[in-house]
Amino acid sequence: MHDMSFALTDDQKALKAAVAELCKQYAPAYWQELDAKREYPDALVNDLTKAGYLAVLIPQEYGGAGLGIMEGALILEEINRSGGNAGACHAQKYIMGTVLRHGSEQQKNMYLPKIASGELRLQAFGVTEPNAGSDTTKLQTTALRKGDKYVVNGQKMFISRVLQSDLMLLLARTTSVDQVKKKTDGLSVFLIDIRHLKGKGLEVRPLKMMMNHSTNALFFDNMEIPADSLIGQEGKGFSYILDLPGRRAMVHREGGGLLDPARDLRQAHRHQPGGAVPHRQGAHGHRGRRSHAHQGGQDVRRGYPLRARGEHGQVPRLRGGHRGRQRLHRLPRRLRLRGGVRH
Ligand SMILES: Cc1cc2nc3c(=O)[nH]c(=O)nc-3n(C[C@H](O)[C@H](O)[C@H](O)COP(=O)(O)OP(=O)(O)OC[C@H]3O[C@@H](n4cnc5c(N)ncnc54)[C@H](O)[C@@H]3O)c2cc1C
Repeated sequence: MHDMSFALTDDQKALKAAVAELCKQYAPAYWQELDAKREYPDALVNDLTKAGYLAVLIPQEYGGAGLGIMEGALILEEINRSGGNAGACHAQKYIMGTVLRHGSEQQKNMYLPKIASGELRLQAFGVTEPNAGSDTTKLQTTALRKGDKYVVNGQKMFISRVLQSDLMLLLARTTSVDQVKKKTDGLSVFLIDIRHLKGKGLEVRPLKMMMNHSTNALFFDNMEIPADSLIGQEGKGFSYILDLPGRRAMVHREGGGLLDPARDLRQAHRHQPGGAVPHRQGAHGHRGRRSHAHQGGQDVRRGYPLRARGEHGQVPRLRGGHRGRQRLHRLPRRLRLRGGVRH
């Protein structure tokens, strides 16, 4: 029988605690100020990069930590639990599976070590379009092969962090939909260096959204990209961008990380004059649900033992390094998994 325990290992708890310790430097005032100025949390993202936390899924042979989806998810959860916004840097984890599983050895050697060291950021992915949201197969941006280049034309919508990223994963149609058997065929994915494309076929127009997500509309006007930026086989891109098990696991924990700060804010509000919440719905209901999910000493909703909760104050030391800013490749050997992303 499979082991169905959801308890975290000691190393995973140490990882969570170390991320929490790093995030403590970025108090709510940091986020409030950024939000007011609509700026990107560069300082935090740089610190997370230096500590190796944004490269945990990159295999060790390319300079990453070679850890799994669970560790990636724990890091995102902990950033949100600290009151921060993991959305500023989650893309590097969400799209890494596409690059690792379908990228060529040449692409991995060219980009992964630099992403792992922080020299390059891969924080942008361009899929959504004005007429292609939930149904990706409707996308109309085209990339047509011309010698050793592809020429890209079209428009993308709601594409985040383009101005804060060096690289972007782009999905475009390389064969028109009336020439393919299935509408999921004929789409291709490219890993492109956008640093030199801005103003040369790529126009980036920032969008003012309700949340500060550094989101943009993109316009491609005969934008030329090298043919070798194609990931895998031409026309197979739709299947390459589907990394659902990994992405869902990370999205789930990333979202779960928001619950604690929300509950804390609500508690703080309740203790202010006039701050009582009618019918005691929020935190009470939350506790009620938790007790349903509480089985055999495990909080199965969150996936770790209840006694591990509230441990942020006592940060376990990761072996062989400093707290918080510890480089992940110094983690205990048994935590280092070869081959990177587990699915
Ligand atoms: C802050 C922000 C950042 C984003 N960043 C990125 C990014 O970096 N890169 C990127 O590519 N995209 C990004 N997106 C786009 C996001 O992925 C899309 O918004 C999402 O795919 C949904 O597309 P849509 O907004 O066009 O909604 P629609 O597809 O129009 O859906 C609208 C509603 O209808 C529902 N719906 C749709 N189809 C059906 C159906 N067949 N049956 C029943 N219900 C249906 C949906 O569930 C939804 O509730 C971002 C969006 C936001 C808001």
